[in-house]
Formats: sequence, C-alpha cells, structure tokens
Amino acid sequence: RASHNEEAAAKAAADTGAPTIFDKIIAKEIPSDTVYEDDNVLAFRDINPQAPVHVLVIPKFRDGLTSLGKAEPKHVEILGQLLYVSKIVAEKEGILDGFRVVINNGAEGCQSVYHLHLHVLGGRQMKWPPG
Ligand code: C5P
Repeated sequence: RASHNEEAAAKAAADTGAPTIFDKIIAKEIPSDTVYEDDNVLAFRDINPQAPVHVLVIPKFRDGLTSLGKAEPKHVEILGQLLYVSKIVAEKEGILDGFRVVINNGAEGCQSVYHLHLHVLGGRQMKWPPG
C-alpha cells in the first residue's frame, strides 16, 4: 500500500479542469510523433515509452472528459471512437496479435494528465496483473 501510494503521489496531478499539455500537442504547438489523426481523435507516441510500442489515443475535444470517471451519456460516441482507433493503431504498429489498452483514472490510478487518454502498449510480452 505504501509503495503504491508513493507512486500515485509521485505521478498524481489534480483534476482541476485546467488546460493540459495535450492541448498544445493537439494544436501542434508542441511537436509529437503522430501515428493516427482524424477530425476527432489524435494518436501519438508517448515521450516516456513503457513498451516498444506505446501510443496515446486522445479526443481532440476534451468536452469535460478530464478522465474516464467524468464520462456521461453524451460521450459514448467518442469513447467508442477512441477504442476503435486503439485497434487501428495496434494494426498499424503490427501488434494486433498482442497488445494492451490502459486508462489510468485518478490519483490512485496513477493518472498524471487530465485529458482522457488511452495507452496502447505492445511489442513485448505483457505481464498480468499490472502494477
Ligand atoms: O496515464 P497518465 O496520465 O499517467 O499518462 C500520461 C502520459 O502522457 C504518460 O505516459 C507520459 O509519458 C505522457 N506524456 C507525453 N507527452 C507529454 C507529457 C506526458 O507523452 N508532453
């Protein structure tokens, strides 16, 4: 419990609803290595990869989705798009046979950026359970 809380505390940021670094990535004010983009969804490589393939899939319009825990019925369509784009990313990256999609939610879930994002991880043997 103690080490878990330390990790959460080390990574955790508060869900203040303030703009995040992802707004600048979406606006191309900060360069990112884009893997997939359409009108609603952007996928780019994580700057601190935890696997040979580590891509973040995010909605271009946060619309209150600072985290999955803020999801409402109006978000169902974008939530489906994000999951489908995760599959497109896995396909493009050649890891369809084995990959993982992760959403960290809240401080105890080790969320550090409060703009909903799906981690697509693969390219190595994954372990279960995750830490
Ligand atoms: O789930 P969590 O909120 O911790 O994930 C945020 C992710 O965003 C981290 O994996 C971090 O490496 C990534 N990140 C990034 N580019 C930034 C800031 C954070 O890829 N400029």
